[in-house]
Amino acid sequence: MQHATSPEGENSCDQPPPSSTLTVEQNPSTGVLSSVAARLPEVADWSDWRWQVRNRVRRVSQLKTLFPDLDIAGVAEATARFPMAITPYYASLIQRCDNTDPIFRMSVPQMEELIEPVCLSDDPLEEDADMPIPGLVHRYTDRALLIATTMCSMYCRHCTRKRVAGHRESGITPARLKQVTRYLTEHPEIHDVIVSGGDPFTLPTQALESILSAIRSVPTVDIIRVGTRTPVVMPMRITDELVTMLRRYHPVYVNTHFNHPAELTPAAVEACTRLADAGIPMGNQTVLLKGVNDDPVVMETLCRGLVRMRVRPYYMFQCDLVRGVEHFRTPLTRGIEIMEYLRGRLSGLAIPSFVVDAPHGGGKIPVSPNYIVSMSPTHTVLRNFEGMLVAYPEPGLHGRGGTVGRQASDESAPGVWELSSGNYSKIQPQNTVRHARRQRGIPEQRQGELTL
Ligand SMILES: *Cc1c(COP(=O)(O)O)cnc(C)c1O
Ligand code: SF4
Repeated sequence: MQHATSPEGENSCDQPPPSSTLTVEQNPSTGVLSSVAARLPEVADWSDWRWQVRNRVRRVSQLKTLFPDLDIAGVAEATARFPMAITPYYASLIQRCDNTDPIFRMSVPQMEELIEPVCLSDDPLEEDADMPIPGLVHRYTDRALLIATTMCSMYCRHCTRKRVAGHRESGITPARLKQVTRYLTEHPEIHDVIVSGGDPFTLPTQALESILSAIRSVPTVDIIRVGTRTPVVMPMRITDELVTMLRRYHPVYVNTHFNHPAELTPAAVEACTRLADAGIPMGNQTVLLKGVNDDPVVMETLCRGLVRMRVRPYYMFQCDLVRGVEHFRTPLTRGIEIMEYLRGRLSGLAIPSFVVDAPHGGGKIPVSPNYIVSMSPTHTVLRNFEGMLVAYPEPGLHGRGGTVGRQASDESAPGVWELSSGNYSKIQPQNTVRHARRQRGIPEQRQGELTL
């Protein structure tokens, strides 16, 4: 009885889900509004990940039973187009059965998935064109991404691989894995292999181990990364057995995919603690999603929560131009606005890089607010998060200024030109918290003399 994929290929996940009625009620073990299969004797297995996989919500009829008030217009069509699966655990995090609930929005199919503007396509990153072996994307010189399975425990409505995830649920075959290993051996420039999918943690531990050990057998591979949403949607999968296996293939990194503070549950914290305690550095890749996390304060709360869980915010992605995600897309300006808010306010450790994964397979391009205000041959004028302007002089300037023959036109009113020409070194806003703190002064301390 194996409900996740096997390396042999097709698995048994398409068996009919239990006909039981999942009901919404308070789950004493999680303390949140929970949907539990109360009428199943198996409900005692809530914390068994195989039970979670077996009891995924896969049909509109189950959804209707779970959420009687649900407006199912269009849901069936969307589900026919892009498969649905929601673990009971993830469904239990839903507080409101409508689109204003971020968990609902990320997991329950919507009619809007059928909107098809011309700019969207199934494979906007042109991954298929960068596969020397089916399933192995070799885009950047030194790293490659392996689609190890097409299965996920939950099918995110905003998934960037909607063309792949869940249409069949199968893992990489041993023959294919051999081809991949050969390719890695023949390409010693590849130092970093990202095991992705689908979600590799839906694989049985042994199947995942064969993949990791095959990759590890290539001496030129330095690090292995696993990209997974399991700690978010099925945290009980992060068992001692799994982490004991993972640590045999160190250095192993895990990149996870938390999008909203409501996902930072005690169970998710426990899963991340297990991974961190096994010496696995974790990064988080969040996707900017309209109505979910396109808000500076929500993003701040998420990032602060993640570092507390020893998960380093790594990327914040602009939504890809994938067919079926139009209703999640935000203007690029929203991401820049959020980055503007985070910088200076949060620990640098808690701030992700905002990236656009470029259409046509251009790869990830960092996008950020502008901090360079002006440049001259001698000085670069920068601004900080408060709006302070500073001049950074190039090396080799031995005078105060540097731009020969230039004079500030009016010394009492410096502007950007006076900074870039070296006549002034800063323009400081007077109404910041930091400025006020400095004005109050630090008692008994003089410039340049630090006495502790
Ligand atoms: C994102 C990605 C990587 C990894 O990129 P990093 O910036 O190193 O995280 C590698 N290959 C492909 C195809 C990717 O999409
Ligand atoms: S877990 Fe990842 S691959 Fe699977 S549906 Fe979600 S975003 Fe897509």
